[in-house]
Amino acid sequence: MTIDPIQLAQSLIRCPSVTPADAGAIGVMADALESLGFICHRMSSDERGGPAIANLYARLGDAKPNFAFAGHTDVVPVGDAAAWSDDPFSGHVKDGRLHGRGAADMKGALAAMVAAISRYLDKNGKPAGSISLLITGDEEGKSLNGTRSILEWMEAHSETVDACVLGEPTNPDRLGTTIKVGRRGSMTGRLSVRGVQGHIAYPHLADNPLPRLVRLLTTLAELKLDSGTAHFDPSNLEIVTIDVGNGATNVIPAKGEAVFNIRFNDTYDSRSLESLIRKALDAAGGRYQLDFEITGESFLTPPGSLAQIVKDAVAAAIGLTPSYSTTGGTSDARFIHHHCPVVEFGLVGETMHKVDENVAVADVTALTEIYRSVLERYFAAK
Ligand SMILES: [Zn+2]
Repeated sequence: MTIDPIQLAQSLIRCPSVTPADAGAIGVMADALESLGFICHRMSSDERGGPAIANLYARLGDAKPNFAFAGHTDVVPVGDAAAWSDDPFSGHVKDGRLHGRGAADMKGALAAMVAAISRYLDKNGKPAGSISLLITGDEEGKSLNGTRSILEWMEAHSETVDACVLGEPTNPDRLGTTIKVGRRGSMTGRLSVRGVQGHIAYPHLADNPLPRLVRLLTTLAELKLDSGTAHFDPSNLEIVTIDVGNGATNVIPAKGEAVFNIRFNDTYDSRSLESLIRKALDAAGGRYQLDFEITGESFLTPPGSLAQIVKDAVAAAIGLTPSYSTTGGTSDARFIHHHCPVVEFGLVGETMHKVDENVAVADVTALTEIYRSVLERYFAAK
């Protein structure tokens, strides 16, 4: 049975699965995978609070090694619906391009995975091992009950994976240019400085916290974290907001607050970075309060056999040699890399999250061939 990636992508786009809604998208994936002989475990996950999320773990075969594709069916909101040239959930093809919310991020890639598996099975029969899919409906939101929940379910059911390709749209403007082998970590710091409110004309009766806040922020802004590592750009700290909220010109405010975000490479983990920040602020002097929220640690899958397999598959399918990158925001690979080597390769991300999101039909077809070739190379090497 051969699955057409464009038809499947259209069926997925027609489900308006804006996080946390599933709108039937997981079912579309499960039906297609069941038609290929997969055993599908559908889950409804809400253990970390919030609305229940539809997730799916599907597996074909029970032998090792277990090769996994991973991805998400949820999409970001359409935004200004009136600005779209067409219904954002129509999944129509126009001038050789597939349109709709999620076409690039990442329903096109999900369809390519399933179609690639169908072609692999047509040609090779069942692999000497297993093929799995980890599909979540909670990636674009807070990712509370998404891939993490699937991985926990797998652990509880003694399901292990040996290698994983995540289908995020890694290529900035042309298919075949970029494989992601890691991601920077991200943490947000909330800094607040307190003083004593008072009349501007009687400063000796007050304590203005703002000079202290400015001094601390200058220290942060001037901090040189590192010069980058083999696969990462330098870590970067950005001050994102400074809030005092003082509308009066004759009042010394009681409090000043600022928020900063750090994208950090594998020189640090969030703990070592936090202690470095606190040391620098302590040295600058003055009382402050600081809280951190960690979105993700940095991680790297050292470019080895898995990344090489994807690289070779791209070269064989479309004649380009992609480079390894760790740029961009974080992804669900931050959860998966604790379990097995994971690399990310998908469609062109140029229009993701934008109005009139679309991808070239030819790219979805080419990605299908790349994924098929990844499967062939992975199982041939075992
Ligand atoms: Zn995505």
